[in-house]
Amino acid sequence: MLELKDVHVSYGSVRALEGISLQVGSGELVALLGPNGAGKSTTLRAISRLVPLRRGAIVLDGAVPLHRDPPEGVVRRGVVHVPEGRQIFPELTVEENLWTGAFTRRHRAEIRQDLEAVYQRFPRLKERRHQLGGTLSGGEQQMLAIGRALMARPRLLLLDEPSMGLSPRLVEEVFTIIGDLHREGVSILLVEQNAHIALQVAGRAYVLENGRVVLSAPARELRSREEVWSAYTGLR
Ligand code: ATP
Repeated sequence: MLELKDVHVSYGSVRALEGISLQVGSGELVALLGPNGAGKSTTLRAISRLVPLRRGAIVLDGAVPLHRDPPEGVVRRGVVHVPEGRQIFPELTVEENLWTGAFTRRHRAEIRQDLEAVYQRFPRLKERRHQLGGTLSGGEQQMLAIGRALMARPRLLLLDEPSMGLSPRLVEEVFTIIGDLHREGVSILLVEQNAHIALQVAGRAYVLENGRVVLSAPARELRSREEVWSAYTGLR
């Protein structure tokens, strides 16, 4: 479904990605692991066109050069980013935040249906639909960020550190939702520092270090060799 071929990204003189190649198949849940600064978030930003490629290609469905689309074009193709730190709009209500997720869509009746579906999945957001986004708890903001992404009808979700700053109970709740979305057929590329929890839900994983893929394997294999590769990469 998605293929990155030799992707290079720089921030000024900082070389963040130095030739990333990876694939996410249709219906797959793939984890992107690695220590701080390895280039995980930059990989997601490159896919959603928030940073330009210096070299390489990003191809959707074997044919579409995603790296030539503007960011809203990527969303229109069903590739939707849930950024690190959630980045919801603090001054908008929960419901207004959800509507912003449908910015590429025109059919209001369909958008309303999807809003109801998001509220069914996240009853807490429904209870708080008139509350300002900035007043939600960390876990609720993460759910709002995922709910907002669902309003764009994603085929592929790019999730950046959904466990960040959440209590173990909330991490479990968020990962249950991620697992549900995957079972419903949404493909997912999941960036996580918490390798242990990511490998519980992922089918395959890539480990990044210094802007390069240093390891790629089925999650099952990485789970059984956790002590070996966690010592090697310094990950939990
Ligand atoms: P973390 O888990 O800490 O978020 P990461 O693996 O997501 O790390 P990135 O955020 O992709 O890593 O950063 C990759 C490299 O690019 C790092 O060396 C970082 O300092 C650098 N970098 C990221 N954003 C910028 C920026 N806006 N300007 C300059 N350098 C940046």
